[in-house]
Amino acid sequence: MITRFAPSLTGYLHLGHVLHMLYVWGIARKTGAKILCRIEDHDLSRARPEYETAILENMEWLGFEPNLGISVKSARKPSEFRQSDNAGYYESVLQTLHKKGLIYGCECSRKQILGNQAEEGELCYSGICADKGLPLASNTVRFRIPQEEVVFADLKLGEQHQIPASQCGDFSLRDRNGQWTYQFACVCDDIRHGVDLVIRGEDILFSTARQILLFQTLGAPIPAYFHHPLICGSDGKKLSKRQRSESISLLRENGATAAQLIGQALFQSALAPNPSPVSAAEAIEKYII
Ligand code: GLU
Repeated sequence: MITRFAPSLTGYLHLGHVLHMLYVWGIARKTGAKILCRIEDHDLSRARPEYETAILENMEWLGFEPNLGISVKSARKPSEFRQSDNAGYYESVLQTLHKKGLIYGCECSRKQILGNQAEEGELCYSGICADKGLPLASNTVRFRIPQEEVVFADLKLGEQHQIPASQCGDFSLRDRNGQWTYQFACVCDDIRHGVDLVIRGEDILFSTARQILLFQTLGAPIPAYFHHPLICGSDGKKLSKRQRSESISLLRENGATAAQLIGQALFQSALAPNPSPVSAAEAIEKYII
């Protein structure tokens, strides 16, 4: 089995990632799966390469080493495990969908799509451009999705029912500026690297049915999914990578040890009864598997 740790380059690691890594490394230990590290910098307008080195160094310092993909040794060297190096591959997968008539160009602005929908919450695209035959270049490229309910068995949360057609509608695979979207790049990479076990936070739960539709359309096997709980800040919101004040880099600079941070992550997620320092290996044995 192959699972993956796939950090985005939009910020530093924080305690939420520590918890996530405990789940990934713990479940991999239990199942014998190999762990692949993939750098998710598909959106070049948001990703900052300097985060890559910081993320990889902090992973190693915390005691999490991947079996495959990018590690400290290969940081910032060209790799098929880094999304910004994969444009040619994504383009070829896009062409496969194009030949099947499953994508179309869309010229709608966010404001047009918003229409009378509420500002907050996710936008659901109604398919205005679906039959206009617009070019793909310099337009948003959308995936024609079926009106069906997708059912999957989450290994942590049980049976899930999602209807992407009423949640997001025909979602985008590439934006009008040529940036690949998370949903598309993630599925292309999971297929290419044979990922068959996806472990990730509950915040991405609603991506799963969308990704399953892509796997099915591309004739690829659908991975098993495990969505774990998140650590929330004192405001009840999930931790943000952009806040350097909460980053592992800063806590480390200020003298925290890896064991202290792992203890904190376990405590804040209520897996451990107190924040006692604990190594990654011990934490996995004691609290995850
Ligand atoms: N890149 C995503 C993140 O950092 C993870 C995506 C995934 O695991 O599918 O939140």
